[in-house]
Amino acid sequence: MKKIIIIKIGSNVITQNGLEFNKNFIKNLGKQIVNLRKSKPNHKIVIVSSGAIAEGVKKLGWKNKPKNLPKLQAAAAVGQLELIWRYQNIFTKMKLDVAQVLLTHQELSNRTQYLNARKSIMNLIDLNIIPIINENDVVATEEIQFSDNDHLAALVCNLIEAEKFIIITDQKGLFDKNPEKYKSAKLIREIEYNDPLLDKIDGSSKSSWGKGGIKTKINACIIASKGSTKCYIISADEKNFIEKIINNQNLGTTILPKQKIISSRKQWLQNLPKSKGEFIVDNGAKTAITKNQKSLLPVGVKKVIGNFIKGDLIIIKTSTGKEIARGLVNYSSEKANLIKGLSSREINSKFGQIDEESIINKDNLVVLDN
Ligand code: GLU
Repeated sequence: MKKIIIIKIGSNVITQNGLEFNKNFIKNLGKQIVNLRKSKPNHKIVIVSSGAIAEGVKKLGWKNKPKNLPKLQAAAAVGQLELIWRYQNIFTKMKLDVAQVLLTHQELSNRTQYLNARKSIMNLIDLNIIPIINENDVVATEEIQFSDNDHLAALVCNLIEAEKFIIITDQKGLFDKNPEKYKSAKLIREIEYNDPLLDKIDGSSKSSWGKGGIKTKINACIIASKGSTKCYIISADEKNFIEKIINNQNLGTTILPKQKIISSRKQWLQNLPKSKGEFIVDNGAKTAITKNQKSLLPVGVKKVIGNFIKGDLIIIKTSTGKEIARGLVNYSSEKANLIKGLSSREINSKFGQIDEESIINKDNLVVLDN
């Protein structure tokens, strides 16, 4: 069976000090992939690489990373070309084929496009081509401001059910305290994805060229771990890291994943970035959906918030405002407002018919584990 390893390379690794392209790292990575193909042909590598903006800024002769969006987009457009060319240049010499895949959160939010993206990437993997994925910064206006490639890479782990997720950084791994501030800070070798310590780790250290930092890496590992992907945060200085990780040697920090797998559809739902509305539900509905894995019925909905259409993502909350589940709605907000709080019989007698028994079907509903 195929085993997919996703390697996420940050801008600070790609461009040493924001200047030189890190040829040595990529050359070394290429060599590791060549060796892996010989020793373990069923292991497939997918790369998620940042660095477009950093490369673009350099190519355009600008001194610093710009702050305004049009300039960031221009840098990304110029730099993505440069970035891929550099990978291709190095990998082709080693007879490794590469492909560019650009994604936005928008594609991953639409179920059909999500499945198409999955098919395309799996197809490349089957053809023994290494997908090099980046966010499509040129069109992803919002993403340039709010998102980061750690998150994107985590969603790709879920998308293609990666076995391992390796985040390459300029740090040694996760520390119990900020190592820049405390000499006594200790490297965390292994931690469960739901260990409360992960929440407490000082996430103030930020990448100067990319958008992420330690916090975004932790969050990305939590998302990937929930899909049963084993995650590693390691330093770019580690030699032969692929082989060592496959052989279960401890490098950097290992984040142990959740064992219980939820369906890939529910996993996708869990990770959808934006909801269109909210339902405040009563206690009966809360128990039905969180404990008894039932659909959400109109009778349990006390309040409808937002404007949405059938198929949109809705967050389900208790009357105290606690988010308990999310799902794809069967009715528009207009209709939901008409039927909220009513039993099926009442809906039938009021409107003469009922389109869907549930307002969110259990197959389109995921309960949040908190
Ligand atoms: N997509 C951006 C780039 O290639 C980087 C995003 C990030 O650093 O997270 O420059």
